[in-house]
Amino acid sequence: MVNPWLLSWGCYFGFITCRTPPGVWTSKPTAISTTSTSSAFASSTAVLGTAAPGPTSVVHSFGTTTTTTTTATTSSSLSFDSLSSTASVPSAFVTSLDSDSTLVVSVSPSSVSTSTPSTPSTMSLSLSTSVVPSVVPSAAPISAGSIAADILVIARDTASAKVASSGLNAIGIPFTTLVVPQSGTSLPALNGTSGGNFGGIVVAGEVSYNYGNASGYQSALTTDQWNQLYAYQLAYGVRMVQYDVYPGPNFGASAVGSGCCATGVEQLLSFSDVSDFPTAGLRTGAGISTTGLWHYPASISNSSTTKEIARFAANSVTASDTTAAVINNFAGREQMAFFLSFDTSWSATSTLLQHAWISWLTRGLYAGYRRVNLNTQIDDMFLETDIYKPNGTTFRITPNDLQGIADWLVEINGKMNAGSNYFVEVGHNGNGNIENSSSTDEGYSACNGGGIEYNSPADTALEFKKPLGTGTNLWPDSPTTYNWTAACTQLDPLLLWWTNASNLDRFGHISHTFTHEEQDNATYSDVNKEISFNQAWLKQVGISAAKYFTSNGIIPPAITGLHNGDALQAWWDNGIRNCVGDNTRPVLLNQQNDMWPYFTNVASDGFDGMQVNPRFATRIYYNCDTPDCTVQEWIDTSAGSGDFDTLLATEKGEVMRHLFGLHHDPYMFHQANLRNADTTPITINGVSGQYSIMQAWVETQVQEFVRLVDWPLITINHQTMSDSFLARYTRDACNYSLRHTISNNQITGVTLSANSNTCSTPVPVTFPVAPTSTQGFTTEQIGSDPLTVWVQLSGSPVSFTLSTPIAL
Ligand SMILES: [Zn+2]
Repeated sequence: MVNPWLLSWGCYFGFITCRTPPGVWTSKPTAISTTSTSSAFASSTAVLGTAAPGPTSVVHSFGTTTTTTTTATTSSSLSFDSLSSTASVPSAFVTSLDSDSTLVVSVSPSSVSTSTPSTPSTMSLSLSTSVVPSVVPSAAPISAGSIAADILVIARDTASAKVASSGLNAIGIPFTTLVVPQSGTSLPALNGTSGGNFGGIVVAGEVSYNYGNASGYQSALTTDQWNQLYAYQLAYGVRMVQYDVYPGPNFGASAVGSGCCATGVEQLLSFSDVSDFPTAGLRTGAGISTTGLWHYPASISNSSTTKEIARFAANSVTASDTTAAVINNFAGREQMAFFLSFDTSWSATSTLLQHAWISWLTRGLYAGYRRVNLNTQIDDMFLETDIYKPNGTTFRITPNDLQGIADWLVEINGKMNAGSNYFVEVGHNGNGNIENSSSTDEGYSACNGGGIEYNSPADTALEFKKPLGTGTNLWPDSPTTYNWTAACTQLDPLLLWWTNASNLDRFGHISHTFTHEEQDNATYSDVNKEISFNQAWLKQVGISAAKYFTSNGIIPPAITGLHNGDALQAWWDNGIRNCVGDNTRPVLLNQQNDMWPYFTNVASDGFDGMQVNPRFATRIYYNCDTPDCTVQEWIDTSAGSGDFDTLLATEKGEVMRHLFGLHHDPYMFHQANLRNADTTPITINGVSGQYSIMQAWVETQVQEFVRLVDWPLITINHQTMSDSFLARYTRDACNYSLRHTISNNQITGVTLSANSNTCSTPVPVTFPVAPTSTQGFTTEQIGSDPLTVWVQLSGSPVSFTLSTPIAL
């Protein structure tokens, strides 16, 4: 038995390697070691094949402790050994598909009979040498073969696994999750008859737990398991990423100070060297916040093995710049480490940083693609809006306002990265045009006595589900079909601006229904008219002929009607197949994968199969046309605090998280938000402009985005966006995967396959260097982006040869 004090004593005198330098008593975390599950476990593993033990390591093995099939099927150049005690193998090695693209491997902790929590009291004396895991286990690299490009994600629990994998999921890179509870678990088979099973390994927080006062924080992976991973890396040239780690010999670095930062203390992080992951498109020297992300400023302790890629700026805690992240090369074993915690569920910094490790881990070669869409939808065009502040006022946008937006589109596109194409998409309500045109005596008669008018009942509960066939018609009995003339519609100056073809094609266009009647409790008859009248109006005035017109989708009025089977049936009968939802309402989101749309179903919504695409709300409220108004509403309704700059900074943090998280969901705005012609200039980043509050929002996002990455910002119209969500959903169901071909210690090509090697929609494969042939498939390469080939699988795997092999 090793007494805990013996570990500290060994650390203090430098007899063993610890996170604390010799002469310093260990404190949390106490040791770099992992605890072994049992001495029997360690002694029963053996080094076989081409793997040899590292100089200070315990023995390690490529064999896994999990499956006997590993040994049964092995015939590769590496030989395997399973545990002598197969009875100790967890019987329930659960392999399940969490999503259609994601293989999830997990083990029920209760089934791990030999992996009971290690406590210091069970640590045998023989492990006193093995508390130093070998960072340089040796294994001869394979010279030829293949490796699955699947990424192994190792994390403590499903929540941290989701953080670790969210970027992979966003890009569409297949991954497998290994959840390691405090009691430990078995590794999945790292290789098999066809070669390596994983193209990269990510470990979050060393899967460490607090094992009590005596032993403190230690990894729930055993020393032996770490060495299996390391040896696998060496054999197959596979990289490892670790984040949320403490600087130490395992990372070629030492801690500077005792960590940072207390609440309210900022320490900026920036990339200092991105040359090892050029396809990430990240800019160096651009400081980003670490607020809320605990981290350990570090210094490089071994410059022959370790290089800095990111640094922390000096602050009140550390007087000079320190190292934030490194790349190690330990005798050929490559590792990237961040001395910083990650949480992509709230941190924009995390969603940005993940692109560094994903690009590096995959070497920029993966199934999937990285795209940022910036879609801004402007609802309520042609309607008049009651303004929140000053209360009692109304606003309807003018042609001058729209001209200001159109002119600005040129300006804002010029501020974006190469390849960008941004435009604004507008949701139209035709009855607002008829109402405006009929506001004069002449117009009243030209417009058949005016537009459609009715008394609106009180709102229903937010998620009200209407029994089919119920409700009361609000619309008058006549007209039954759209019957206004051009002589009527053209009395509205706003329509004249929009029907100028050069204006029309600079924007996207979609129906927001004719009168904006709320549809939660609406009848089939009313909704049928809301859709069909607006379609007729859009056609009559020429908007449906616009370049970026959406014909098969709508923006539902106030996002109502989504649990009204009669309304959804009326949409469907008029050719509507999709709409946007509201991301503040969980029932309208796909709960399995946030990259997928939601599909309505009879049980919840009274109708099967309407596609609901996610959409973000912003703090630019629908009933505001000035900064003062939207700040006041933010304070009054959403616990906001501060001024318009504070509001925009808050939005910036959230939107950067969404953009770098590759969420293609549009952002919601309204017509009053575009008021700019007669407003007080707004200053954004020191530049004053005749901006509407919506423009101020976009300016803020664009400025931050281009500061951090060189990626293009691409707008797609609603219909293309909807198709894109559906395509993502469809191809994930194909369960595609990529394999690297290895020859002469280089990746020379890739092979894409899928279930039955067939997929009804193309699968993207992204290349850091061009393949020798793209085989006639659609390709995509915009601005500084890497090349993506959209591969159509039709019965056989598709292979590509790289024009320049990638050295392992
Ligand atoms: Zn609306």
